[in-house]
Amino acid sequence: MKTKHLIVGAGLSGLYTAYQLEKMGKDYLLLDARERIGILQEQKPHEKMVAI
Ligand SMILES: Cc1cc2nc3c(=O)[nH]c(=O)nc-3n(C[C@H](O)[C@H](O)[C@H](O)COP(=O)(O)OP(=O)(O)OC[C@H]3O[C@@H](n4cnc5c(N)ncnc54)[C@H](O)[C@@H]3O)c2cc1C
Repeated sequence: MKTKHLIVGAGLSGLYTAYQLEKMGKDYLLLDARERIGILQEQKPHEKMVAI
């Protein structure tokens, strides 16, 4: 996948950055050390997130 915007960490800051990029119509890739997003027990998958 090719993208100019790489977000490391799918916590609050990363998800907000992803939200802002989506609002601007920009593509991005979200990387996280874990296989889930968010800080608590959020299990909802994110289509642009890759666990590393
Ligand atoms: C139990 C609990 C309750 C809370 N309640 C509140 C509240 O009510 N109100 C409030 O304002 N704040 C609350 N907080 C604080 C709030 O969660 C944090 O301020 C906020 O999550 C910080 O966001 P962040 O994106 O900087 O970090 P995080 O949300 O911690 O996200 C960091 C992400 O980066 C990933 N990561 C870390 N290292 C790497 C790496 N090397 N490579 C790839 N990915 C990596 C982690 O897996 C994680 O998903 C709470 C925190 C906890 C633990």
